Amino acid sequence: MPNIRRLTLSTDEYVTGVLARNPAILGRAITLVESQAVSHQAQIQEVLSHLAPHAGRSKRIGVTGIPGAGKSTFLETFGTHLVNQGLRLAVLAVDPSSTLTGGSILADKLRMEKLSQNPHAFIRPSPSGPALGGVTQRTREAILVCEAAGFDVVIVETVGVGQNEIAVRAMVDYFLLLMIAGAGNEIQGLKKGVVELADTIVINKADGDNHHRCVEAQAEMQGAVHYLRPTAENWSTPVLLASGVSGLGIKEIWCIACEFFRLNEVSGTLAGRRREQAVKWMHALIAEHLQARFYGNEWVKNALVEAEAAVAGGKVAPLQAAARLLSAARGAPHAPN
Ligand code: GDP
Repeated sequence: MPNIRRLTLSTDEYVTGVLARNPAILGRAITLVESQAVSHQAQIQEVLSHLAPHAGRSKRIGVTGIPGAGKSTFLETFGTHLVNQGLRLAVLAVDPSSTLTGGSILADKLRMEKLSQNPHAFIRPSPSGPALGGVTQRTREAILVCEAAGFDVVIVETVGVGQNEIAVRAMVDYFLLLMIAGAGNEIQGLKKGVVELADTIVINKADGDNHHRCVEAQAEMQGAVHYLRPTAENWSTPVLLASGVSGLGIKEIWCIACEFFRLNEVSGTLAGRRREQAVKWMHALIAEHLQARFYGNEWVKNALVEAEAAVAGGKVAPLQAAARLLSAARGAPHAPN
């Protein structure tokens, strides 16, 4: 048993610890793969390549909704239901707000308190990197690590702010959108096209006095969904009621998710989604690498200051400045080639 309080672990310690389902090492392994430090990248590659053969067997589920939609309350109840079914569950909470505000919506409060104490559940708040869409660049890698640790279900939870849903959609098998009655469908994703991405829509907080409003919102949303292109063959997006507080709809939502997986495994749709996602992942890694090399280059760092001032002052057009920087960077000492 390695002393995991040490600052650094060997690749072997990470790999054996994750495969042995050691929660502390699992947490450390995710921290490692999320690291942007240049000095960590070689070890990250090693760890991931050892874990990759053990990954790929979980159900990957994305859950999104605006702040206050009840995501964490819902996941506490939904996650407990899954664990009670004998499943091992990992929740990766991805918080885009930290890059925008320096604060964090997801980490401010104690989230999924009961679930996080369950030995069959693993809750991980992830800081988001500077990737487009706010979703951390390394969420895919974190999913891979969780799968190698034998989780049956990996949920990626994100705050719906428009772009994030698209990024999460590209890394999960099944996408669940939580909405609330009366908050304005436009804000919640109708306008932004998020609803089109959802394999299932949940009208949440359907309890107490709010129940009848949720029934109305359900009917309205069902009408809207009717006109959308199905997300998968033989699938029409269901609109369900739920309450993380009363437990309404929780079992049904899991049954529908299982049905989605069953149908789409048989039809090959899921395998197709994963193949597409693997290709996107490769492109994301290439883009990340090129961007890091370009912006990490000392010559570029200096030249950028001047270029930014010239563009801001209207002296040089953005197109021209970008073209000049890119071609100069190729020939510059220590520049990307
Ligand atoms: P998140 O920001 O989407 O994670 O939302 P939270 O789970 O933190 O919930 C936001 C607020 O809504 C909290 O005050 C919760 O107590 C409340 N809430 C969450 N789920 C429900 C629900 O199912 N019914 C009711 N009535 N309130 C809820």
